[in-house]
Amino acid sequence: MKITDIRATTVSVPLEAPLRHSNGTHWGRFVRTIVEVETDEGIVGFGEMGGGGESAEMAIRGLKPYLVGHDPTEFEAMRYKICNPTASLYNNRTQLHASIEFACLDIVGQKLGVPVYKLLGGKLRDEVQFASYLFFRYPNEATGEGEVRTPEQLVEHTRDLKERFGFTTHKLKGGVFDPQYELDCYLALAEAFPLDRYRFDPNSVYSVEQSIEFAKAIRHINNDYFEDPTWGLNGMRKVREKIDIPLSTNTVVVNFEQLAQNILNPAVDVILLDTTFWGGVRACHKAAVVCETFQYSVAVHSSGELGIQLATMLHLGSTIANMPFAIDAHYHQLTDDILVGGKMAYKNGAIAVPDKPGLGIEVDREKVRYYAEEFRRLGGYAYDRDPMRPDWYPIVPNDRWANP
Ligand SMILES: [Mg+2]
Repeated sequence: MKITDIRATTVSVPLEAPLRHSNGTHWGRFVRTIVEVETDEGIVGFGEMGGGGESAEMAIRGLKPYLVGHDPTEFEAMRYKICNPTASLYNNRTQLHASIEFACLDIVGQKLGVPVYKLLGGKLRDEVQFASYLFFRYPNEATGEGEVRTPEQLVEHTRDLKERFGFTTHKLKGGVFDPQYELDCYLALAEAFPLDRYRFDPNSVYSVEQSIEFAKAIRHINNDYFEDPTWGLNGMRKVREKIDIPLSTNTVVVNFEQLAQNILNPAVDVILLDTTFWGGVRACHKAAVVCETFQYSVAVHSSGELGIQLATMLHLGSTIANMPFAIDAHYHQLTDDILVGGKMAYKNGAIAVPDKPGLGIEVDREKVRYYAEEFRRLGGYAYDRDPMRPDWYPIVPNDRWANP
């Protein structure tokens, strides 16, 4: 089997409301690039990448000279063709590679008539448990609804998500307002739902000292972990020495080099694997095996996904033993998906692992066309800016908090 063509289409899919984070805002929509890899046997595989526009589409198409004629079952060769570690000093293609790898896994699964999880060694669970992903939100521009700013609004929003999706683990994205205000919000949640589990992620914007103080103030609640309170392996290590809550990261251990450093001189307890950041499902699976060897727990990180990437997270999550945590997804914040039938369904906070061949999803080409048109109409947005605070940009550690 040979790859004959690679296509990329950027889409814009609406969110319920703009999501605020420490570096800016997801301004009411996710922009993602859908990748299609075609083969000489007529099998087409789908991949997905964050962000988009002409440059993303061109970057994906730019891989064609490397990959047309490549056998999609040859994953290791493809890794070196696209992401040779020395060549990558000049052209960082890790995330591009991930999107093509998703598509090739989809192709090989379809060819063999097996779901992707079987290509990874088989699933250990039939469904994957998700945490709610709670954000401070601006109101929806059109309806004026959906704002999350006060502790009361946060508790109400969480109650609503629990009813709709069944979440019993909650992740609060912080780093927007000053730490004391966000601490009050986090503790209000834990008080409202005392039997549930929690994790807080201020996206690395606290100082070492603020991180330690925050950790001490939350130690009495059911924390899964404290995610990326401060920046850098050394900052995290200094925090870890002074607190008794596990630390997790999706920022300072995102490749094998950093994983090795963290094992030799621990700074973080739980590694959050992202199928895009790590360069593919297989890289995450390999990293999970390394973590298992050294008795590190992992979970799956969300960099904002539509159904294609969500499927990669489900297949990965179903195959890892050392994952005692619910995984993250922004998915429930979306109002739609590019899959036939719309979004995958949650049941009791979990989503069933697709059992059909390949990624096990069916992409709705009409929806891709519609949301590609939406992208052309709306354009991109700056991830690291907030349109409501035009002169603002964050520093690390931050002290330029939004006013609640
Ligand atoms: Mg994070």
